[in-house]
Amino acid sequence: MPTDVRSRLLQAKSVVLTTHVSPDGDALGSVLALGRYLEGRGARVDYILSDEPAPNLDWLPGIDDLQFFDGSLRQREAIAAADLIVIADTNAAHRLGSVGDAIRNASAEKILIDHHPAPEGWFDRSFVRETASSTGELIYDLIEPDTDRIDAAIATLLYTAIMTDTGSFRYSHVTPRVHRIIADLIERGGLNPDDIHAALYDTRSINSLRLLGRALERITLLHGGVLGYMALPKSIMQDVGAQKGDTEGLVNQILSIDGVQVAVFFHEIDKGTKVSFRSRGDYSVTRWAQAFGGGGHRNASGAFITEPLEQVVPRVIAAAPNYLDLPPDNEAELSDEDQAYLSEMLKLKSQTT
Ligand code: 5GP
Ligand code: MN
Repeated sequence: MPTDVRSRLLQAKSVVLTTHVSPDGDALGSVLALGRYLEGRGARVDYILSDEPAPNLDWLPGIDDLQFFDGSLRQREAIAAADLIVIADTNAAHRLGSVGDAIRNASAEKILIDHHPAPEGWFDRSFVRETASSTGELIYDLIEPDTDRIDAAIATLLYTAIMTDTGSFRYSHVTPRVHRIIADLIERGGLNPDDIHAALYDTRSINSLRLLGRALERITLLHGGVLGYMALPKSIMQDVGAQKGDTEGLVNQILSIDGVQVAVFFHEIDKGTKVSFRSRGDYSVTRWAQAFGGGGHRNASGAFITEPLEQVVPRVIAAAPNYLDLPPDNEAELSDEDQAYLSEMLKLKSQTT
């Protein structure tokens, strides 16, 4: 951990913390944990971000302290008066959403704390480790010299951050150290992991499960079953009465199919198409996502494309072999069912002629 980042954080009297659009467990857990720690050390903290949390995160300790950027004088003053701004869990101004310009143009020193590759150049200092499991792990590192200050709230926030960004401790950046951090958080916070998992994952609506059912039917496998994708039109969301956050995790369903190494989820939204890319091991989806104006990690990237779903899907899928080493795609190869159907048709036809 760079000691200059820690000492700069501790010197600050007035801090603004921010994170990315559609903030996930890592984003919210990280800023709320760091903010609570800095408040405990005497700083004034403003948490200013673009978007509200999804309902399954609205119980996080300190969630009511969040402010959502509305361009008001009060918020602009807080940003102008801060002597330090911390940007966590994203490294690009446009990923900060509505607050991006105000943060980027602020005169205060800006510190980046993040685990994504290729940060933009406007940060004054940074604590970036691409191999970190989560930004929450980095926040733990910053607090570590002072672990006695980890109370139940900070422990809950960091546990949530690390758990959500590691797919419940299963992804490749999960190290023995991550498990040791988690053990320490459970002890210090007196946590019951089952309660946290249940609050996050067992609070789904029946409509979100109906959406899952409809989505699963739409999975297509290509390139010998190595690439899988699904495209979700808005009409299905409306049909089942699904909400915005209900698409979370759908892409991982594709990756759970035996043999699938690369998964893509296309989601029609108001202004275009949101694409989520996921992969296993050495298959990197970053450059593929970048080719469509997005970005992200080796095994998890995303892009937002301002074009209709029907146009985006074939373009993105056709580009796959440019970025990934995939077996040839025998599209002409029919499934057993289709083959049987075709033979039946031909048989009928030969009987009638
Ligand atoms: P998701 O598919 O969950 O939205 O995003 C997965 C990862 O891809 C995120 O953690 C983020 O790093 C990255 N990502 C998602 N959307 C975008 C985007 O529009 N632009 C960039 N640069 N990265 C994105
Ligand atoms: Mn993260």
